[in-house]
Amino acid sequence: MPPETAPVENGVSSGATCSKPLNELFCSLPTTIFEVMSKLAMEHNSVNLGQGFPDAEGPETMKQIASTAMYDFHNQYPSLLGVPELRQAVARHSEANQGIPVDWASETLVTVGATEGLAACFLGLLNPGDEVIMFDPMYDSYVSMARRSGATIVPVRLRLPDFSVPLDELAAAVGPRTKMIMINSPHNPSGKVFTREELEAIAELCIRHDVIALCDEVYEHLVFGGAKHISLRSLPGMAERCVRLGSAGKTFSFTAWKVGWMTGPARLLNPIIKAHQFLVFTVPSSLQRAVAHGLDNESGFYHSLGPSLEVKRRYLEGELAALGFGVLPAHGAYFLVADVSKFLRPGEDDVAFAKRLTAEGGVTTIPISGFYVGPAPPTHLVRFCYCKEDEKLRAAVERLRAYLGAEQQQQPQQ
Ligand code: PMP
Ligand code: GLN
Repeated sequence: MPPETAPVENGVSSGATCSKPLNELFCSLPTTIFEVMSKLAMEHNSVNLGQGFPDAEGPETMKQIASTAMYDFHNQYPSLLGVPELRQAVARHSEANQGIPVDWASETLVTVGATEGLAACFLGLLNPGDEVIMFDPMYDSYVSMARRSGATIVPVRLRLPDFSVPLDELAAAVGPRTKMIMINSPHNPSGKVFTREELEAIAELCIRHDVIALCDEVYEHLVFGGAKHISLRSLPGMAERCVRLGSAGKTFSFTAWKVGWMTGPARLLNPIIKAHQFLVFTVPSSLQRAVAHGLDNESGFYHSLGPSLEVKRRYLEGELAALGFGVLPAHGAYFLVADVSKFLRPGEDDVAFAKRLTAEGGVTTIPISGFYVGPAPPTHLVRFCYCKEDEKLRAAVERLRAYLGAEQQQQPQQ
C-alpha cells in the first residue's frame, strides 16, 4: 500500500519497552487503505464509496438464528474445523452451485472470514523460497501474508482496460520454484470475472507444472451482464490441486460476522487446518449455525445480488462517464474502476486525488496503485464501491458533479 498512508513506527522504541527490532515485515506496513479512507470519510462526512461493504444487510432469518442460537446451544468452543451443519451446508453449496462434489468431513474448513482462511493457506502451504504467481492488481491481504510465509510473489499484470490475463506472460512467469497460482474471480479491485478460456489456460499450467491453485471466490454470486462465475476447481483435473474460499460477508452481506469457509482436497487442507488451529482455533458457533441456514435456505438472497448490482452499476457507470471519468468494463463484485486522468492536477496521483476528493468533494473512493506489487503501477485509477442505497449513489453523483464540474470550469480552455 502507498507508504504515505499512516506510516507505522519500525519497532525501535525508547523508554521501558523492548528496544530490539520487532517483526520487520509488519513494522514496515502502513495501515490498510480501507481503514485509512473510511476514517477520512468519517472525518469529512463524505459519501463513502471506498471500503467494500453493502448498505442492505442479509436475511432477517439469519440474524434471528444467530441470536437464538446463542440461547439455544451452549457457547463453548466448537470443533476447530467448524460445526458439522455448516460444513455439510458448504459441501452442498459447492455441489449445487459449481457442480463440485465435496466430502464435508475431510474437505471443508470454517474460518474467521476469508481473510483468516487466506492467511492459513499461505502459512500452511508455502515454504521459504517458493514462488507464488499473483495477478496485479490484487487484494491487499495476500501480499503480506504470502511474504510472511517466506514465499516470493511473482506478479503478472492484468491488461487494461478489461483486466484480461496476458496468457503469454503468465506462462513465462511459471518456473521450477512456482508452488502456487492465486486466482481471485470475481476480482477485487476491478470487478473482472475470469473467462473460461483464461481459467482453462491457468488449469493447463497448474497441471503441467504441478502447481497448486488458491481460488479466492468470495464474490462468486456477484456476477451479472451475461457473465458466469466458473470455479477453477470445477475444471477437469483441478479439484485435487485447488483450494477454494468463500465468505458470508459477501454471500449474505454480513461483513462484520467474519465467517468464511474453504473446500479442497484433504492433503492440502491438512496443513492449512494446522495453521488455522493456532491462528484462531475456531469460529463463533452461533454465527456458523446462521450461515448454515443461509447456505441451505437463502439462495434467493444471494442469487438476487447480481441483478440488483447490475442496475446500480449501470446507473453509476452512466453518470461517471457523463462527468468525464473513463469507466473500465467489468461484470462482477461490487466495484467499478474509473480513469480519473481528466481530473488530476499536475503531479497529482490517485492517492492524492482520492484524498482531495474526500476532503473537498465529499466523496470517498479507493486509489488502486497500492493494489499493485510490480513496478510502476498505474496512478490514474480509483475504485468506486456501489453496493449502496440508490439515494446514496445519487448523492455521490451530485457531489461529484458540483465539485468536479466547478473545477473543470475554472481550468483555462486548451
Ligand atoms: N478476498 C477478497 C478479494 C476480498 O475483497 C475480501 C473482502 N473483505 C476478502 C477476501 C476477505 O473476506 P472476509 O471479510 O470474509 O474476511
Ligand atoms: N474487501 C473490502 C474491500 O475491498 C474491505 C475489507 C477490509 O476493509 N478489510 O473494500
